[in-house]
Amino acid sequence: MAGGEFCPACGAAVPGPFFRLPDAPLHVGVQWPTAEAARQCPRGDIDLVLCPTCGLIFNRAFDPARLEYAGQYDNSLFFSPRYRQFARETAERLIDRYSLRGKTVVEIGCGKGDFLRLLCEAGDNRGFGFDPTCEAEGDPGERVQFIRDYYSPAYARYAPDLICCRQVFEHVPTPRTFLADLRAGVGDRTQTIVYFDVPNVRIILRDLHVWSIIYEHCLYFSAESLAAIFQACGFEVLHLQECFDGQYLEVEARPAALTQARRTEAPDLDDLTASVASFAQRFDECRRRWEERLETIERTGARAVAWGAGARTIGLFNALDIGAQIPYVVDINPRKHGTYLAGSAQQIVGPAFLREYRPALVVVMNEVYQEEIRSQLRDLGVEAELWCA
Ligand SMILES: [Zn+2]
Repeated sequence: MAGGEFCPACGAAVPGPFFRLPDAPLHVGVQWPTAEAARQCPRGDIDLVLCPTCGLIFNRAFDPARLEYAGQYDNSLFFSPRYRQFARETAERLIDRYSLRGKTVVEIGCGKGDFLRLLCEAGDNRGFGFDPTCEAEGDPGERVQFIRDYYSPAYARYAPDLICCRQVFEHVPTPRTFLADLRAGVGDRTQTIVYFDVPNVRIILRDLHVWSIIYEHCLYFSAESLAAIFQACGFEVLHLQECFDGQYLEVEARPAALTQARRTEAPDLDDLTASVASFAQRFDECRRRWEERLETIERTGARAVAWGAGARTIGLFNALDIGAQIPYVVDINPRKHGTYLAGSAQQIVGPAFLREYRPALVVVMNEVYQEEIRSQLRDLGVEAELWCA
């Protein structure tokens, strides 16, 4: 994407960036063993550009060569009951809608494989999970097997009835090649269903979820740009909707017949263009609000923690250079406990730590989880004020 004069989705010429965030940590799924290592983590620049033709937003400064997804990567959301329920409902809907029983499912970028297992157990399907970071390979006789590799047309022999790809496409610097390869691999198996979900950039821009802007996400899709690239790569879009309180977009598609006319209508991007035009100014206002909050913490000496050692916390803490004002980050994923947050180097602790620490303030990074967090605090006997970031 270096150079960045052209949209990686539709190839149109694009203007300069509308928003810049320098020195962001490269990886949000990597935790560090010491505070010093966390401070020294690799960083890169974010220069967001809006394609006026298809509506894709992308990071012009993104350099894929700098990102190596390795075994230590852990970005699982499955420890949250709220997220597990969403994943289970999605799996059940896909199984019912497309009669996926006794079929073959491929998941691209399966992570720990939790969603793939849901699909395979609920629908008695066979699953193949592809991910360069996955742990177990699985025995050939098992219902779910893992292949530690990127999915490519070389694996078309698995002949899947469903190909799913969740929270991955926004990381792909060459989305057109990725989807065109997927389409080529499907070949004439035109009943194959393809399911993708990605963050919804409209919500990020409209509700100022600025902390969701991270280096690893080189692409930010709106419904228009997601539909456009699927159609351009030879898919027919069956369903495309917002989900998880509007935070994600999900698309269900199948291969279009080669003779089918491609829709080339220009999307209406007026509201996206307006959101983009005011974004840098609204970001500065948000930053100022946070600076005031941090001053309050310092002045009153209130004990504060953030909840969730994920992308948003890393985005917020590094953009605002938060240090000792909020010294700990709580996470319910035990694999992260005792490690340190990329860049700003807060120690990551488990919820039980709060019993002794007794914070007065808990910063909730994603309000979708607010009730879940409130209930855990109640169980711990911790009375704290909740701030939504
Ligand atoms: Zn474009």
